[in-house]
Amino acid sequence: MTAPTLPGLEPAPTPAAAPRPGSRAARMALPRSVDVLKQIATEYGVCVRPLAMRRTDLDTGLTEVIDLPCGATREDKCAPCAKKNRRLRQAQIREGWHRDDEPLPGPEPATETQKSLILFRAHLEFSRDEAVRASQWNQVADLDEAIREVEEAIATEGLRGRVGPPHADVDEDQSDEDTGRRRKRSTKRRQDAPDLPRRKVERRTVGKTYTASDGSTYRPSMWLTLTLDSYGPVRPDGTPVNPDRYDYRRAAWDAIHFPRLLDRFWQNLRRCEGWNVQYAGCVEPQRRLAPHAHFAIRGTIPRDTLRTVAAATYHQVWWPSVDVQRYTADRPPVWDVDASAWVDPDTHHPLTTWTEALDALDDNPDAEPVHVARFGAQVDARGVMPGTTDAERTIRYVTKYITKHTGDCHKATTDRQRKHLDRLWRQLRVTPCTDRCANWLLYGVQPRKANAKLKPGRCKGKVHQRDTLGIGGRRILVSRDWSGKTLADHKHDARAWVRALLGTTTDGAQLVDDQADTAERVRHAWELARPDDPDVGPLSYRLMRSISERARWRSELLAAKDRAAQGPPDLSATQHSAQHHGEGSR
Ligand SMILES: [Zn+2]
Ligand SMILES: [Zn+2]
Repeated sequence: MTAPTLPGLEPAPTPAAAPRPGSRAARMALPRSVDVLKQIATEYGVCVRPLAMRRTDLDTGLTEVIDLPCGATREDKCAPCAKKNRRLRQAQIREGWHRDDEPLPGPEPATETQKSLILFRAHLEFSRDEAVRASQWNQVADLDEAIREVEEAIATEGLRGRVGPPHADVDEDQSDEDTGRRRKRSTKRRQDAPDLPRRKVERRTVGKTYTASDGSTYRPSMWLTLTLDSYGPVRPDGTPVNPDRYDYRRAAWDAIHFPRLLDRFWQNLRRCEGWNVQYAGCVEPQRRLAPHAHFAIRGTIPRDTLRTVAAATYHQVWWPSVDVQRYTADRPPVWDVDASAWVDPDTHHPLTTWTEALDALDDNPDAEPVHVARFGAQVDARGVMPGTTDAERTIRYVTKYITKHTGDCHKATTDRQRKHLDRLWRQLRVTPCTDRCANWLLYGVQPRKANAKLKPGRCKGKVHQRDTLGIGGRRILVSRDWSGKTLADHKHDARAWVRALLGTTTDGAQLVDDQADTAERVRHAWELARPDDPDVGPLSYRLMRSISERARWRSELLAAKDRAAQGPPDLSATQHSAQHHGEGSR
């Protein structure tokens, strides 16, 4: 925790002319007390827009209003919560990065009961198949009911996941004549395999250990940045040297499909390397407003391999052509209720349906994907040793922007930058975001599942909004076997650490889990209170109480840390994530 700068340490600028005491200017120069309250709340890590939850004790019927942190991840909503979230992400990256054991050991062996249930389920599957062949639909319905019951029993027995996908309803089974066609299409528009060596992927997620000449061992990990291709030369402020020649169309499509391209990269890398490479990182905009991605990778991979895989990786978008924009948002196609289709406003001919458009693609042997996303030549990778300041600095760098909106990472401050953003946005607005996007109607194609509610050219999809820069989905990307924990698990760890440190001295600062312990959840009923409910006080009262409690809690924690410093250490590893703990307290 950085101590607040003491007043007087920095030379105060001498005001040119102090306002007359008692004047309006003098009064306005005084800070507003409510602003100071919020500022202190932020300094103490107290949520500034808490959710009031009413907790009813089911035994006594007593109710109590408890403030829970809002849990925002962006600092323009709530800086303390966003910072707390960032600390959890940092803890997550730190814990998974240099692991030397598998985070998720294999599951325990199945019990005899579990095995017999699965066998019974298998028999039912056999009988159902026979009944379907014999068209004994009543029996199929009975068997489906039995299958449902067995699957419930399987879940109760503690087996994870479904044993198989659910059967379609009997009626659908009979009328599903489309299946054959659909299957054919999906194989024809598959992604071409990249030109890379392929190995069988081992389950291993932990990197290689190296032995130095003196016999000591070390296990370095990596840090990787993946960037998109160039759309034209840019100036240092991120704006194009020649705006007319900058390829905004490709920039927009690349941004929208960047997450899929990253997925392909990890898939290709794992196949090429032959082990289950793990990563944690985030997507954020570069100054030129194109997305790039930073990743911490567990273990090391030769730089050449990373470059080769990045160069060979691409994502093909097999969508209808968008070369000709046939309609505009001002002169759009119209919905025909009778035909239940979108039609041309003049001729009333229905527009091409999604299925027709894709079939046409399949039937055309020369068809090409409407877009192919690729990485740029710039691939930065370097090794990082566990426990070094370099490792910590890198973690801070990866998480630098995660509390900010995409559009706030690089604020446009000059006209040139604003125009660059506008041109990109104009392109993003007319680029289809998904196969269900209302923008397809501009190109004379009805999107998948077209309906009357679509607004041609005015899709509400996130990527069409100005400040997303086309980066619509999740920006934090963590592979499954990174730390073996969810963010909620990491949060729980931070709390457990505080509890262990405070020991029995928690009476002054009652810690209330927002997820609550199991016992707690049964004993109490929770409901969201409304801000104008009489038992919910004004926000300022609630903030003041939380700040006071936090201040006392913090000094207790500091004292406990001092005591622990003399005892066994090793608590420092999770310290970062725990310092701002306790937002759940009243
Ligand atoms: Zn908050
Ligand atoms: Zn859209």
